[in-house]
Amino acid sequence: MRLANIAGRLHILADSGAVDVATASDGRFDADPQKIYARWTEFRIWAGTADLARARPYDREALGAPTPLPAQLVAVGLNYRDHATEAGFDVPDGLPPVFTKFASSISGPYTHICLPKGNVDWEVELAVVIGSTASRVSEEQAWQHIAGYTIAQDLSERVLQMSGPAPQFSLGKSHAGFTPLGPWLTTLDEIADPTALRLTTEVNGEVVQDGNTRDLLYPVPELIARLSRIVTLWPGDVILTGTPSGVGMGHNPPRYLASGDTLTTRIDGLGTLEQHFTAYPQDSAA
Ligand code: ZN
Repeated sequence: MRLANIAGRLHILADSGAVDVATASDGRFDADPQKIYARWTEFRIWAGTADLARARPYDREALGAPTPLPAQLVAVGLNYRDHATEAGFDVPDGLPPVFTKFASSISGPYTHICLPKGNVDWEVELAVVIGSTASRVSEEQAWQHIAGYTIAQDLSERVLQMSGPAPQFSLGKSHAGFTPLGPWLTTLDEIADPTALRLTTEVNGEVVQDGNTRDLLYPVPELIARLSRIVTLWPGDVILTGTPSGVGMGHNPPRYLASGDTLTTRIDGLGTLEQHFTAYPQDSAA
């Protein structure tokens, strides 16, 4: 099943378009996409019987994040060996660095972003959406706590991220629009092999990142198991699982996003994100 946020309302996607969940369920389920995760098991059972013949075409520009306001947005760093190396860090031993992005940075999959001052970089990431509360779960149990996967760009302003006596990961990665999510949520039964997904980033059509989630140092079930020993994960929470090599900071010379650039982010079987960048008006006037 694929679930989309269209103009702020939860929809099930079918080949012929989208079905509004609140309408099709006669109000049994709320239109708010974020609320569905708290009733995930009940919803999955109902969705299996839903009449998808009522699907209607939709405008892709109306797509929002499938989890527009998660209680927790957890991000994992240095989870691919080649990215840790390009970023100049040691490979983590025990638990990779974990930080949060503020939920106000979340956007839909097709957006225009005003570049803040500094060096704005790209990071394609597989995003895991939690479907039921996970506390101290095992790796084997972890799969049952996943609602599905979606695509994230962990946009990062490197000057602020790396400045000060301790790095400012959370602030440097939380400017408006810095966490595009989507284009929809895909449940794991729709994915041939959820442990091996090719993920790419293109800048103006040039491939700059080309990785595969089979290379995750801490694969998804292990991440959920290790995180849930400390943090109780709630339905609708999002975990960004880290980025492979090829970020702008790792290029020689470093390369960052500029006004006029288009960023295209893909994960096999999950869809595509597309971001367009412009300078802040006061910057371009200078
Ligand atoms: Zn990241």
